[in-house]
Amino acid sequence: MRNKIVAGNWKMHKTLTESQALITEIRGIIRDEFRANTAEVVVCPTTLALPSSVKLVEGSSIFVGAQNVHQETQGAFTGEISAAMIASVGATHVIVGHSERRQYFNETNSACALKNKSSFAAGLTVLYCVGETLEERETEQHWAVIEKQIEEGLTGITSEEMHKMVIAYEPVWAIGTGKTASSAQAQEVHAFIRSLLNKKFGEPVAEATRILYGGSVKPDNAAELFAQPDIDGGLIGGASLKARDFFEIVKAAG
Ligand code: PEP
Repeated sequence: MRNKIVAGNWKMHKTLTESQALITEIRGIIRDEFRANTAEVVVCPTTLALPSSVKLVEGSSIFVGAQNVHQETQGAFTGEISAAMIASVGATHVIVGHSERRQYFNETNSACALKNKSSFAAGLTVLYCVGETLEERETEQHWAVIEKQIEEGLTGITSEEMHKMVIAYEPVWAIGTGKTASSAQAQEVHAFIRSLLNKKFGEPVAEATRILYGGSVKPDNAAELFAQPDIDGGLIGGASLKARDFFEIVKAAG
């Protein structure tokens, strides 16, 4: 039985004070209304808010993650942060390969593989994002694109390290657009990703790996998506910026 995950990606939103207010609100709602939550809840605020967010969730069941990491452990890489730096402030998760990073910062599958590897070395859990563009879906290239993202992005990753790997399927055409993949469309791709993991790492790893769906998940579509056999939770953008909406999505995950 895979434990579901709901992770909020706050992207470049919220100042430090606003981040602190939002995380406090999320923590409060979960504490007051849904103490028995079984899903793993992760919030990924701006890097600047990581240390204070970690303090604000202390004693709760909420984890804090970063939105990006550099693949090297240290060096002359102005503006970047390493996995060890993320871990040093008490954050436990990191998003790798988000489509916005692939699109605007030219992040490649092979760079993602290195980021995944260095994140595992620092003890972080990785939320590795894959997914096709609208054009790739319309031309039926999405299977090949996703296979390449999995194959290349997991290069050099061991079965042992896969225990700390979570895959997030995020069709680019559904991110921030209000268009969600239907639960059937998402399930089809999730099952495909699991079959790729089976081929690469064997059945026990494939069956144990959580695969999240991301792309306009909202309180009113979360339950149906999360009920699919291969959908193990969600990576949430826009709706994670509203405490009540995020909470409703957490509740849908159980
Ligand atoms: C995302 O950016 O990872 C995402 C899924 O965004 P949204 O929920 O806003 O579509």
